[in-house]
Order: sequence, then structure tokens, then C-alpha cells
Amino acid sequence: MALLTPDRYFSRITAIDIEADLLGHGYRAVLLDIDNTIRARDTHQVPRDVGLWLGRARTAGVDFCLVSNNWHSDVYQFAGELELPIVAKAMKPVPASFMVALRKLKAPRSEAVVVGDQLATDVLGAHLAGLPAYMLQPLVEQDLPHTLLLRNAERVILGDRKPEPAVHMRQAGDELAASCAPAAAGSPSSSE
Ligand SMILES: [Mg+2]
Repeated sequence: MALLTPDRYFSRITAIDIEADLLGHGYRAVLLDIDNTIRARDTHQVPRDVGLWLGRARTAGVDFCLVSNNWHSDVYQFAGELELPIVAKAMKPVPASFMVALRKLKAPRSEAVVVGDQLATDVLGAHLAGLPAYMLQPLVEQDLPHTLLLRNAERVILGDRKPEPAVHMRQAGDELAASCAPAAAGSPSSSE
């Protein structure tokens, strides 16, 4: 795998289909970034849809361990509120923190995937650890100054790769394409 190429690229964590994109691949352990992945950098809140998605995934049998470079003490409180294990001060892309997270979840590497919003930390770190990486668009534009600089490099590396939208949006797109197909083939109504 190319070190800086995300295995999948999604618009938001809720665009990850829990059955098809996680459990269907045998991923029952998710090593999860915090800032701008599940918690907005500006408001420090977990958006409602993201919280609901996390709940659905856990009910479906997916285990999560937070893996964050954040060194503030509030991330431990955050993890406590979500009732999730955490590896903080992770120094991603150093892969050691992902190994610690796997041990916390008692999960083999083959059953784990990293989910995060940054190429230089989450994606690179996952691949250095031999793990697949699902990259997300950041929840909000606001970020730390050095992260904003890295975003420019991310744009160059990602090129014109577009993030995958939520499943219902994908299905709507498929249905739209299907409904347009007969018209394009010359149905009677297409010329009216
Ligand atoms: Mg992040």
C-alpha cells in the first residue's frame, strides 16, 4: 500500500457503512482519531449524527479505541464521557500508539482499521503500522496552524480524489443515474 494513499476516503464518519465498510471487511476494531474526526475543532462538540453513528456501530459489535496526538488532559475526560479507551499523546505517525490501542482492544491487526482526518498522522501512521486507513474530510475548516499548512500538502497528494458521500447519497446517485438511463437511450418522453 502506498504510505500516503488512504484506502478509502469519506466525506464524514457517517458515510462509512458499518456493515459493508467495516464488518464486511472483518474490521471489528476501529482506532479512531478525535479532533476534526468525531469532535469539531471549533466547538469541541461531537455532532449529533456522529454520536448516533458511534452508538450504532458499537451496538453492531464494533470496538473503538481513541488514538489522539492531543496532549491536553481534557481528552481523557472526553474518552470517559464516551466510555471509550484512549491512547493520548500518541505521536502519530509513530506506529507504536496503534499497537498499544490494538492491545487495549485485544484485537489482531487483521481486524483493525484506522479512521482519521489527516494524511500525515492518521494515514501515514496506519500504514507504517501495517493497518488500513479510512480518511475523512475534517469536520470543520478550523485547525491548528501546523495542521492547516499540512492541508495544502494533502490537497496536492489527494489530487482530484473526491470523498465518498453517505450511503443514502450514494444510493440516491445510483437511482438518479438509473432513472436517467432510459431517457438517454431515447425513451419517448426524452424528446418532449
Ligand atoms: Mg484529527
